Amino acid sequence: MIGPGVRSFLAAVLPALALIGWFVHRDLIAPGPAVMLVAAIAGGSLYAVRRRVKAEKAALDRLNRMAEEAEAQAEALRYKASVADRIVSSLPDPLLFLDRRRRVVRANRGAERLLDKNLVGRDIGEGLRHPDLLAAVDRALAGQGAQQVEVALPGPPPATFIARIEPVEPPPARRAAEEGGEPDQAVLLVDLQDVTALIRSEQMRVDFVANVSHELRTPLTSLTGFIETLRGPARDDAAARDKFLAIMQEQSERMFRLINDLLSLSRIELDEHSRPTEPVDLAEILEGVRGMLAMKAEQRGAVLTFAPPDEFQPVVRGDADQLTQVFLNLVDNAIKYGGRGTEVSVQVRARDSRRLAVDVRDQGAGIPAEHIPRLTERFYRVDAARSRELGGTGLGLAIVKHIVNRHRGRLSITSREGEGSCFTVTLPLAAEARREAAAPRTPQRRATG
Ligand code: ADP
Repeated sequence: MIGPGVRSFLAAVLPALALIGWFVHRDLIAPGPAVMLVAAIAGGSLYAVRRRVKAEKAALDRLNRMAEEAEAQAEALRYKASVADRIVSSLPDPLLFLDRRRRVVRANRGAERLLDKNLVGRDIGEGLRHPDLLAAVDRALAGQGAQQVEVALPGPPPATFIARIEPVEPPPARRAAEEGGEPDQAVLLVDLQDVTALIRSEQMRVDFVANVSHELRTPLTSLTGFIETLRGPARDDAAARDKFLAIMQEQSERMFRLINDLLSLSRIELDEHSRPTEPVDLAEILEGVRGMLAMKAEQRGAVLTFAPPDEFQPVVRGDADQLTQVFLNLVDNAIKYGGRGTEVSVQVRARDSRRLAVDVRDQGAGIPAEHIPRLTERFYRVDAARSRELGGTGLGLAIVKHIVNRHRGRLSITSREGEGSCFTVTLPLAAEARREAAAPRTPQRRATG
């Protein structure tokens, strides 16, 4: 077989030789047949050259297509790698990839936030000094498979993680190279799952059940005790019977209040995520609360002062019953914990063009600063005995907090020992009231009492 190179060479040279041959022997060969011969040779050669060009073009096209496919595959791989990269980076759990020498090969943003920005290239023990975790990493590196340990970090703030350590299979080509080469390939994945909130809520659930049981047990014990006394030693003692029955009534009312508060709390929690939509005028709500508590205030010698805003109508989107409950609880507390004969004032003001604030202020003994952040926890009381004596359940502020949350508002507490406390509820104004708060109208009404 003649190769394609030789064929092209012959295609060019043969017609030229034929032409030279005829020129040299032009006295022997007539020009007509010579021209035909040269033309035939040139035609054949041209045909061969064209076929070759065509074949080479087809081969070139094939190569181009293969190159394009390879480029597309490389692009798809690059895209997949960058997606995987972004996923790993944005996963909330701190993730660390380690090589065979326990060095960090890669750390996502969560890990950098939790531990250190410059972890890559360093031993994991430099960022996470936790003996159990390091021992588990060593076990996984020694081929003992996936490991799981609880890791408590002192913080601040303190946090608890479940660390899952999973072996990562390196790709086969790398595996072979790794046998003798430098081990910089990720072989372990350390996933730190934050379980702090989970542990805290489990603890809260356990505490809550214990607290409810305790709160119900105390009045029940007292009721059973009095029933026994009334059926035994005090059976015929009319004076003692009246006294005991009064205490028993008080204890049953306490249990009733507690159960009512527990039921409201669970109802409020159920719809905490659905924002109320009805327009509610807080001036009317506060007027109602004043009516409900007027007698109690009088009994305790407290002076109630209500000041609705002059400049705008305090309308919010809300649940009227729940908002009544909020201010009943706050004003009731102010009456309970405010000193005898002092003033309890409720003032509504525009916080800014979008929000209003209601301040419930008393002149009581105040609250020590260390207790303030915990007051809205269920059953948290500064002085449990005093709260019980005043008929408190320890759930009032927890109820307030949940209702205010449902209304996308905020409860803030300020207090000065010896001077009194101020509980402020901030709520978003309804759209129609926002315009008024932004451009205050001329004072029209003022209702205090
Ligand atoms: P309680 O039924 O005990 O009043 P709350 O949840 O309403 O329960 O309040 C929790 C605790 O917060 C109270 O026991 C009390 O110690 C404290 N507290 C609430 N309001 C006031 C206030 N106005 N002044 C002083 N202490 C208050």
